[in-house]
Amino acid sequence: MKIYNTLTKRKEEFVPIEEGKVRMYVCGPTVYNLIHIGNARPMIVFDTVRRYMEYKGFDVNYVMNFTDVDDKIIKAAIAEGVDSSVISERYIAECKKDMAALNVKEATKHPKATEEICGMLDMIATLIEKGHAYVAADGTVYFRTRSFKEYGKLSHKNLDDLQGGNRSLLVSGEDQKEDSLDFVLWKPKKEGEPFWESAYCDGRPGWHIECSVMSKKYLGDEIDIHAGGEDLVFPHHENEIAQSEAANGKQFARYWMHNAFLNIDNKKMSKSLGNFFTVRDISEKYDLQVLRFFMLSAHYRSPLNFSADLMEAAKNGLERIVTSATNLKYLLDQAQNVDETDEEKEAFTKVAEYVKKFEEAMEDDFNTADAISAIFELVKYVNTNASAANSKQYLNDLYTEFKTLADIMGIIIEKEEELLDADIEKLIQDRQDARKAKDFAKADAIRNELLEKGIILEDTREGVKWKRA
Ligand code: AMP
Ligand code: ZN
Repeated sequence: MKIYNTLTKRKEEFVPIEEGKVRMYVCGPTVYNLIHIGNARPMIVFDTVRRYMEYKGFDVNYVMNFTDVDDKIIKAAIAEGVDSSVISERYIAECKKDMAALNVKEATKHPKATEEICGMLDMIATLIEKGHAYVAADGTVYFRTRSFKEYGKLSHKNLDDLQGGNRSLLVSGEDQKEDSLDFVLWKPKKEGEPFWESAYCDGRPGWHIECSVMSKKYLGDEIDIHAGGEDLVFPHHENEIAQSEAANGKQFARYWMHNAFLNIDNKKMSKSLGNFFTVRDISEKYDLQVLRFFMLSAHYRSPLNFSADLMEAAKNGLERIVTSATNLKYLLDQAQNVDETDEEKEAFTKVAEYVKKFEEAMEDDFNTADAISAIFELVKYVNTNASAANSKQYLNDLYTEFKTLADIMGIIIEKEEELLDADIEKLIQDRQDARKAKDFAKADAIRNELLEKGIILEDTREGVKWKRA
């Protein structure tokens, strides 16, 4: 399996740190609003990478954080006159709903920055101790960028070029830096902002330290894959590398994967241009399966243009796949239990060829566009051959392969039976029992299971209420 590594600018054979395991960290959204369709691209792309790795038999530990303390969240909280946690919790819940509708699997862990402050202060203390960070007079802690000799290795930037281009970054309050390249690890609180006590000042963390710490805590000092949108290469991921490698003394991530941007009608998406869409906006017109399919129709490192025409094409393509699978399932359910004929056995080698094509595409840096072409070849084969088949065995094998490939893409070809109200009530009761027994992991697992099926729980004073998303 080959992965394009931003660090080396080459496609490299994927070799995990630990055999059979993948430790993967994806930078998640800042939760101050509904996620937009650009944010959905890394979610869908890296969920598909994860699904393929799982198909290959890897045990994938997949972490995606939520940045729940940030200027934009604080601004939104002030505007509404509420605590910033009200804003972040609201939009984490909304983001999880969108992810479920996009068929993005829950991460193994979705850490939140505000719950990891202790770890951040620990790493900051280590960096100060090792001479990689310093405390300014006002209590701000800065990373001493030049102390990390490999700074710039991910974005392939040269420190001296950066120095020249970076002077304008000396904004007010940052004039206490030793060097304009230094960046914030911890900053003093401002009036009305959430803050935590520390040895340096009452304050809050800088953005970059969050990911270094959450990755270390949930995946260890060395991880296999770190991923996000290409805008994160510099400075966010460069700074993460500097912090983590300076603090831990080990290579942080072996493979760095970055998706290219999603544009709208060939322009950058922006509120001021009036071409800004949330995932929720799109859900009013399309099943979000269509958005997912559209995103995977291009290679993740190619810029992708969103337009009404391309969405219509994606809708039609997806319909062709689902219709073919539904017909195949019908034939399978009707089939008599006749043994496979020799011709059918022979014909199945053709199917193996499509599967091979699919795998080759995915193994070449996750070329989902070519993988989808292989699925279409399978669709064509099914549409021409399945109705003439006799044996249940043959149709079953065919359907199983079809479903496996669709699952890797996150395409749902068979809608799960809707949960009945009674089943939901039963699961809610199980969750309450688990909570009483202080088995919070189980309680959370039940909540997530319900969420994946589109059931949202709300804990109120009158008890647990639920609704369908
Ligand atoms: P943010 O909340 O801005 O930190 O973004 C969360 C994730 O979405 C990051 O991985 C970004 O790189 C990614 N992202 C933001 N805008 C776009 C876009 N237009 N196209 C693709 N990815 C994006
Ligand atoms: Zn990050």
